[in-house]
Amino acid sequence: MGKIVVVGSINMDYTALLAELPHPGETLMAKGFKMSGGGKGANQAMAAAAFSKDVLMIGCLGDDPAGHALFEKMKDKGIDVSCIEFSEVPTGNALIYVAEEGKNTIVVYPGANHQCTPSYVEKHRKVIEDASLVMMQLEIPMETVEYVADIAFKANVPVLLNPAPAQKLSEELIKKITYLTPNETELLRITSQYDAKKGASALFAMGVKNIIVTLGSNGCYVKTATEEARIDTFKVNAIDTTAAGDSFSGALAAHLAKGTPLKEALKIANATGALTTTKIGAQEALPTEEEVLDLIKNNQ
Ligand code: ADP
Repeated sequence: MGKIVVVGSINMDYTALLAELPHPGETLMAKGFKMSGGGKGANQAMAAAAFSKDVLMIGCLGDDPAGHALFEKMKDKGIDVSCIEFSEVPTGNALIYVAEEGKNTIVVYPGANHQCTPSYVEKHRKVIEDASLVMMQLEIPMETVEYVADIAFKANVPVLLNPAPAQKLSEELIKKITYLTPNETELLRITSQYDAKKGASALFAMGVKNIIVTLGSNGCYVKTATEEARIDTFKVNAIDTTAAGDSFSGALAAHLAKGTPLKEALKIANATGALTTTKIGAQEALPTEEEVLDLIKNNQ
């Protein structure tokens, strides 16, 4: 079986816990601070690696302490890091503020993630062509996302795109996507529709085979050629929604690559997303497979 190939960003996240989000010009004292691995690409690769031994990451790091620490961390999680390159540009990072009730704001410095160019991924064309599934997000250059989608499409490899952070997608790219997992903000940006049903229909008409709109505490909405349904998530004590969407897409990719039916995979993705909101941070908040299966078992 081919690998789940994740082409995406790798960041160091710096998270401050606050009573409320700061206003322009305001200085606030944080109640807590945490440094952890992040970047939507790496988060989703790690979320998938909780369920699969066959995850490979394509991405770029800075040749700096943060970059080397992130590289080792991914390797420790069993992710194949043999395609990752180090560049002279600093490792990407995210500055995250988390306020009470889990509200957050995030500032991203792309850094080395912008070295993830079409000419770099071209060196790994064979890995992409042999993949069981390719998963991407939008924290690397759009031309790279389009380039990889084209390679995968021509090789009949399914493409899962988590279109975050929100950006418009070209019609050419949309046609090549097998699974699209926008949240409501991203859906609005792509389709000008906030309503999941209407937005999903628009995307289906544009050629996306499977649309999964994530709806936070309302679970997700799925539309395919044969079904259309909202699937409930699990009741949890949410304290930080950072990486909920990442863990959802990662868990979904791992199960689709294993051949799990879509609806069953979405139940597991909901449980994974839900558990991620119960802890602070990105990768450190990702649940284990055992925790996910327990949550499902205890709610049957
Ligand atoms: P994003 O993090 O990209 O904004 P969502 O907020 O839609 O994405 O969350 C992704 C998934 O995580 C949801 O589809 C759901 O399965 C789960 N999730 C998010 N927030 C909650 C919550 N408060 N309670 C339970 N599950 C949640």
